[in-house]
Amino acid sequence: MQKTSSSPFDYFSYYKQVLTCEGVSLKTIAEKVGTPTYVYSAGSFLNSYRKLDQGLSGLSHQICFAMKSNSNLSILRLLASQGSGLDVVSGGELYRAQKAGVAGERIVFSGVGKTVQEMREGLSYGGKGIFSFNVESLPELTTLNQVASQMKTKARVALRFNPDVDPKTHPYISTGIKKNKFGMNRKEILEVLKNLDRFPAIEIKGISIHIGSQLLSLSPLADAFDRLASLVDFSSEKFGLNLEFLDLGGGLGISYGPEKSVPVSKYCELIQKKFGKKSKYQGRFKIVLEPGRQIAGNSGVLLTQVLYRKERKSQDFLIVDGGMNDLIRPALYSSHHEIVPVQQELLKGPKKKARVVGPVCESSDFFAKDRPLPLRLKEGDLLAVLSAGAYGFSMAGQYNSRPLVAEVLVQDGKFEVIRTRNSYTDLIQGEV
Ligand SMILES: *Cc1c(COP(=O)(O)O)cnc(C)c1O
Repeated sequence: MQKTSSSPFDYFSYYKQVLTCEGVSLKTIAEKVGTPTYVYSAGSFLNSYRKLDQGLSGLSHQICFAMKSNSNLSILRLLASQGSGLDVVSGGELYRAQKAGVAGERIVFSGVGKTVQEMREGLSYGGKGIFSFNVESLPELTTLNQVASQMKTKARVALRFNPDVDPKTHPYISTGIKKNKFGMNRKEILEVLKNLDRFPAIEIKGISIHIGSQLLSLSPLADAFDRLASLVDFSSEKFGLNLEFLDLGGGLGISYGPEKSVPVSKYCELIQKKFGKKSKYQGRFKIVLEPGRQIAGNSGVLLTQVLYRKERKSQDFLIVDGGMNDLIRPALYSSHHEIVPVQQELLKGPKKKARVVGPVCESSDFFAKDRPLPLRLKEGDLLAVLSAGAYGFSMAGQYNSRPLVAEVLVQDGKFEVIRTRNSYTDLIQGEV
């Protein structure tokens, strides 16, 4: 890993031969908290958040952090302290939002399968309900209308538009093409707008899009914004639709090492150009964003320890104590994560290709394949799997009866355990 000033891993760097998070030794954290452990940098979270926030200055906006990327309460509180709202996708996430003390006016609720119970929770959240239900189908709208009527309230809604553009990302994280389950097409949305009188408990306040995740080019986003603008223009002409906000979703990619990401400033420039003060809309719409990965991705690492080196001719196996249940991204999306030793001196000397694997009984249990790594790495050495702040712990499970790991937050030169490691008793909780 090159340590340059523009490195995406700035908040994790070597100091006195040891990998640190904002100057706090990861070796110390491993000794005190054990491994595997997620370690997050508060500075990195705040820096990424502010970059977006500042890029949108001059434009009325609300950033709603996509909680599914990292839903630890301390992280949510940290971002909320800067004015961040939340994008939630379940009743459980709404519960977390409440525990983190985030006001309803800063919450949007996405997802194709909201239940009646979840709708009730959203409508009554904090007494006044949430900012927006991002509705993904006609039947969902029908149900939400019924639920809101029964509760004698109105639901603030953004219709989720599927603009049918190919985000050119991994198929599992692509959401904005016709064949995906997400959103409504233009025809369906116009149909709803034509028949709005059938939904007396619904207030259409916005239109939302989200075309996919880990986007590494602006052009699919620019296309999606244009299609959104065209729909907005047509609906206002034809139905006099008067929107309060446009929700442009999340999806901005990050560098996991080999790839180049789009600078946040360029992304914000695009939004300003299409919807800002100097656009034809003159900043008329409040802009909502739902970033997850861009804020959390490079703000965390998974700290793990080598258990064994198993030698093989073409590539050795480095068996570590973290597994696919702790960090599933490589197994699920074949994603790349940089892996570096905590002791810098271990980088020296010859390298050999290795496969970094966990203890889980699955061949998909790996963090890296064909990776040239120092031959001297052995039992007991600590490794950091980088870029694990988003879709890391939040996707973790207990497969193979492996307790959920600990999470640590580094802030102001100190570290704090923000989630304790689960125990064996936690594993069987609720079982008869
Ligand atoms: C997952 C998701 C996001 C966040 O995506 P990132 O790629 O992490 O920015 C935002 N909005 C919706 C609707 C999502 O499903």
